[in-house]
Amino acid sequence: MRVLFATSEAYPLIKTGGLADVSGALPKALSQLKATDGAVDIKIVMPAYSAVLAKLKHAKTITDIQVLGEACSLIVGKMPDENTEREIEVIAIKNAALYERAGGPYSDEHGVDWLDNALRFGVLSRVASLLCSQHSPLQNWQPDLIQCNDWQTGLAPAYMKLIDNSNVKSIFSIHNLAFQGCFDASWVEKLGLPEAHFDINGFEYFDQLSFLKAGLFYADQLCTVSPNYAHEIQTEKFGFGLQGLLKTRSKELTGILNGIDTEEWNPGTDVHLPKNYSDARITGKKAVKHALQQQLGLQINADAPLLGVVSRLTHQKGLDLLPEIMPKLIKNGCQFAILGSGDKVLEAQFNDFAERYPTQVSMSTGYHEHLSHNIMAGSDMFIMPSRFEPCGLNQLYGLAYGTPPVVSLTGGLADSVCDTNELSLKNNLATGFVVKNVSATSLLVTIERAIDLWKNKKTWRQIQKNGMQANIGWNSRAVDYLALYEKTLTEN
Ligand code: ADP
Repeated sequence: MRVLFATSEAYPLIKTGGLADVSGALPKALSQLKATDGAVDIKIVMPAYSAVLAKLKHAKTITDIQVLGEACSLIVGKMPDENTEREIEVIAIKNAALYERAGGPYSDEHGVDWLDNALRFGVLSRVASLLCSQHSPLQNWQPDLIQCNDWQTGLAPAYMKLIDNSNVKSIFSIHNLAFQGCFDASWVEKLGLPEAHFDINGFEYFDQLSFLKAGLFYADQLCTVSPNYAHEIQTEKFGFGLQGLLKTRSKELTGILNGIDTEEWNPGTDVHLPKNYSDARITGKKAVKHALQQQLGLQINADAPLLGVVSRLTHQKGLDLLPEIMPKLIKNGCQFAILGSGDKVLEAQFNDFAERYPTQVSMSTGYHEHLSHNIMAGSDMFIMPSRFEPCGLNQLYGLAYGTPPVVSLTGGLADSVCDTNELSLKNNLATGFVVKNVSATSLLVTIERAIDLWKNKKTWRQIQKNGMQANIGWNSRAVDYLALYEKTLTEN
């Protein structure tokens, strides 16, 4: 089966969040499926940001094309991988003015969205659709199916149906419904979309052009990153206004929990850690905690519970609840290792705690892959009280690293973390701690409950073991995706 995977970011080429992790790991896992499960020949299509051009291996330009009035080159290269035999092919769309800019994929250095994002991701969607058409610039390779990911690729299914008359089947995958790619109606014409479909039964959303809605409306099948989130987004609370459309398509909506790349995120082999450890030999985790405390200027104290946070700092993540309860936790001897950026008020609040309690609170802003691995491994527990969470990857990393997560009962968090109580402990199912309501009080109570158990070394060891032994790699998930691909090819 030939699959085109359209995405705006893919680790290790470029990453701002979980989408990149999935785009890096899922194609790899699919291409490695045993022939008995079904062989998948998969290529990624994405923008050629500067970071992508710098990291892509064996890159060569294959053709120059005009897309939506923009002169682009298609570059084919390989995703860097230690095992060269399984390097995934990437088709990168090069247009220096659109994609080679200082700043991030979606916004400038100050976090302000690029004004021409409609064009930048319109071009990505248009190229993805062309690759699925009779006029594909790739002569020797036509996909059977395309998987589009998030709003940045949402117009591809629309172009495929309305312009290219493509026979290729499409799946639109929702990684976060909160980001909808809504733009002024004037973009409809500029992006070459038929005005007649700027309608409730089309890509119109409250008088704007919505890339996300286009994907949800025109794709043959829909999928999202956890079974629970697939249900939640059909409700008013989590549907961001799209619950009606999602409900009408509920038969075509599948939830598959994300996995983790166990080569990147494995405490036994993680190259970022000063010492590796595993479920069978967990003592190395103490050395990582020691080194982390030292590196961050925290008091070196094995007996102080160290709480880790690695996150975008946005309302979604619920971390604005922390400042209210930190004074009590600090008074009781807790330490915090926080890495995150986003909300400037929250950043300032955490910085203020770090200044006042330098031996107990560390706050790092910016994006640091190395530090994120060390916080994950060196902390005793991981804090993630999200208000909504399509899947969440950090709680999965917490499970794998023997750092039980403290999470809210939503989306993929509810699907992946089993609360610790008498019964779950007895059945060796307990893997973390679930906050009942997303409130400061509830979060405090849950963290205190976790710390009490952390002091009981034997019970804690069992909770760590349950998480570390859980099946959270991509292998079995890839089989689920393959089943979805097969369903899409046969039913649509
Ligand atoms: P989301 O995609 O909503 O941001 P996820 O939990 O799905 O949340 O994935 C977040 C990914 O981004 C994880 O791999 C996490 O470790 C990483 N991450 C988030 N913020 C930072 C940061 N400041 N530095 C390094 N990695 C980060």
